[in-house]
Amino acid sequence: MCIICIDFERGALKASEARRALGEMRPTLDAKHVREVEDKLDEAEPSPASTP
Ligand SMILES: [Zn+2]
Repeated sequence: MCIICIDFERGALKASEARRALGEMRPTLDAKHVREVEDKLDEAEPSPASTP
């Protein structure tokens, strides 16, 4: 659980905003947690960038 999860789950961040915040926070977060957050965001709002 990090600031992104907290803000996203209380509705302060949209999935697209959380994804951008994740990009900035990534170096400070555990790689495993980054994956968890990405999965959570993909579930909430499929990323247009992730389509082949
Ligand atoms: Zn988190």
